[in-house]
Amino acid sequence: MTTFDCTAFSSRLVIDLDAVRGNYRAIREHASAAACGAVVKANAYGLGARRIASTLHREGCRIFFVAQLSEAVELHDALPPGCTIVILNGLDPGGESLCAEKGLVPVLNSLSQVERWRAAASTQKNILPACLQIETGMSRLGLPAPELRKIAEDASFAEHIDLRMIMSHLACADEPDAGANAEQLGRFHELAGLFPDVPRSIANSFGTVLSNAFHLEIVRPGIALYGVPLSSTNVEIAPISSLSVRVLQLRELEAGTGVGYNLTYRASTRRRIATLGIGYADGWPRSLSNAGAAWHGDVRLPIVGRVSMDSMMVDVSAIPPDGIREGDFVDLIGPSQTLSDVAADAGTIPYEILTRLGARHARFYIEDGVMTSLMPGEAK
Ligand SMILES: *Cc1c(COP(=O)(O)O)cnc(C)c1O
Repeated sequence: MTTFDCTAFSSRLVIDLDAVRGNYRAIREHASAAACGAVVKANAYGLGARRIASTLHREGCRIFFVAQLSEAVELHDALPPGCTIVILNGLDPGGESLCAEKGLVPVLNSLSQVERWRAAASTQKNILPACLQIETGMSRLGLPAPELRKIAEDASFAEHIDLRMIMSHLACADEPDAGANAEQLGRFHELAGLFPDVPRSIANSFGTVLSNAFHLEIVRPGIALYGVPLSSTNVEIAPISSLSVRVLQLRELEAGTGVGYNLTYRASTRRRIATLGIGYADGWPRSLSNAGAAWHGDVRLPIVGRVSMDSMMVDVSAIPPDGIREGDFVDLIGPSQTLSDVAADAGTIPYEILTRLGARHARFYIEDGVMTSLMPGEAK
């Protein structure tokens, strides 16, 4: 493999780790009776699991949630010893011995997962840690009531399993008025009661602000750590990411000229447009074709034509001709356009925008007020 230094880049993703810490503190203080974990699945929602988990560890976080075994192993090797790393999606067949060897904690979501983990423990003549997930009304992952009762009645369960947490997940946490939230909490209390003294967890980010009744012993915020506000609450969440992209080329269009694939935009008058170095391969949604915008300070630059794989065009006629040049940067996520604004324009949720951002952006991390950079292709 050849190595090379690349300091040129087309797009710049800035991730403010100080703001991540601030958001973690705000949630921890709000749910002060509970332990505050951090959900860092999908590479910490695309923003860098190692960096973010290490930052939160410094802030005192000791419980980390990922979705898959491979994510858990990577995190295990990056974090100091003594952390609990929980695998939310459970135990994939064949993953038992690696999971056990690294001391990772699977969420057991079904009877077959319980059986496989007990068998692994029995083979190793060991007690292995696990969480149990209860299905309380989302129909996604977790044990239904009859199966859970079977486990609770089985005295031999505790011989091989060290039950660390009992959990469930809310379907409508972001809808404070939904009756489903209280229903799920009620069902959770009833069934978690079968395992007295085991720490309980039901709240994701939005769950923590439904009411204090959802805090229980452990809260599991994800998206709020990454800067999506918890609306209408006094829990202060700050944005942590900004994205800007370079102007690759500028051109003048005569009235009637078409732009981009399939010429879905035609200039109605003389326009000036800029081609920007970002496209759907960088996670910039194609659904923003002729819909979204970039920003130059507080000037909105509408996207014109289709978003391509590696580039897209914006109308820069509102900027004076000498106000923008090839090589300049314009903003895609920042003070003028939040992550939530982008998601709304694209017809999706901030989670999807973040997790798709991809590997081609130069990443700049701010930590203790100091900025360090990670170029595209550079090892993490
Ligand atoms: C992703 C996830 C979370 C975190 O959810 P946010 O809405 O990002 O706070 C918590 N618990 C489970 C089970 C999850 O899958």
